[in-house]
Amino acid sequence: MKDVAIIGLGPAGATLARLLAGMLDVVAFDKKAADPDAAGFRKPCGGLLAEDAQRSLSRQGLTLPKSVLADPQIFEVRTLDLCRRLERCYRRFYINMDRHKFDLWLQSLVPATVEIHNACTVKFFERADDAWRIHYYENGEKKTIEARYIVGADGAASLVRRTIAPDHKIRSYNAVQQWFKDESARGLYACFFDERLSDCYGWAVSKDGRVVFGAAFPPKNSKQAYDTLLARAREAGFSLGEPLATEACQVLRPERMDDFVLGNDDGVFLIGEAAGFISPSSLEGMSYALDSAEILAGTLLRENADLFEDYKKSTLKLRLKLLSKILKNPFMYNPVLRSFVMKSGIASIAVPARK
Ligand SMILES: Cc1cc2nc3c(=O)[nH]c(=O)nc-3n(C[C@H](O)[C@H](O)[C@H](O)COP(=O)(O)OP(=O)(O)OC[C@H]3O[C@@H](n4cnc5c(N)ncnc54)[C@H](O)[C@@H]3O)c2cc1C
Repeated sequence: MKDVAIIGLGPAGATLARLLAGMLDVVAFDKKAADPDAAGFRKPCGGLLAEDAQRSLSRQGLTLPKSVLADPQIFEVRTLDLCRRLERCYRRFYINMDRHKFDLWLQSLVPATVEIHNACTVKFFERADDAWRIHYYENGEKKTIEARYIVGADGAASLVRRTIAPDHKIRSYNAVQQWFKDESARGLYACFFDERLSDCYGWAVSKDGRVVFGAAFPPKNSKQAYDTLLARAREAGFSLGEPLATEACQVLRPERMDDFVLGNDDGVFLIGEAAGFISPSSLEGMSYALDSAEILAGTLLRENADLFEDYKKSTLKLRLKLLSKILKNPFMYNPVLRSFVMKSGIASIAVPARK
């Protein structure tokens, strides 16, 4: 029997596996193939590493290899209000990455003492005496393994969260994005608001000769809304030809303290977006994935009598930080306030016109 079974090896799961390695007996499962060129699950993402995430990597003693970087690095975001035809540029300090390579790099840092199952899907788990029995599929075969603790690091549509809290509701969106050939001269980095289609936002980022254009929409008719947004971005002068690939997934947007699900006192814990840890203003989730994994590693290694209580207490600051992001929302998402801010030019910068 293992000590800990981690379901999901995105930034949250891979970080936890790395921090527990050698101290506890850990098994981890992920849908992604280990081979970077193999087909299989790839997390749809803007692939922008925010300053908070850069800080988390530094705190964990990690430096980013250039193999995960995407070209070019742009330090201003063109911000468009498509309803009011307003445009401004704002300084941003995100690192532009290839998200799939970033995930595989984080996984490569997990020491070999952790038993990793790639290209495999956990189907369900159940109580078996004083352990959890996990049922998973690997190479078309049905297998089981037992562990004392289960960690759901399985992202927005978390099986672990749905299993332990089946009635829990959290605001969620459909993120739809497509890849295009990059026809811009200097690369694109833009963000779009159009409250006729979504009360969230859209993005366009150049990456290694391609552009990813996407947005988060309320779940109903999201593909239709995406097509309309794309048409409006083209009208606004964005040269996006025929799509090369389409991807979509759920993305969470917490609104209140109750939205976060941390696990239960029966040995189940949630980290990263599975727990609801993602910024409701920017949808930035990687720093919270890294931070919550670090917090849970601390809890599990403390051997405190009440681990769940310890994890709850230790994540309070992180949860308050996430809720404080809601204060920023009106300036981004309230059309009147946003247009006031954009028209005023506050914090905007002038950049040379470019196509
Ligand atoms: C379109 C889009 C764009 C985004 N852009 C950004 C951005 O630019 N910057 C940023 O910081 N954040 C961004 N986010 C948010 C960010 O991607 C997530 O918050 C972050 O990935 C959460 O990390 P995680 O490790 O918790 O979960 P994930 O990264 O979602 O990882 C979950 C892992 O679990 C695995 N998994 C799931 N279910 C199972 C199962 N049953 N069995 C086995 N494995 C399973 C998956 O294979 C996956 O690898 C974006 C989100 C979306 C949807």
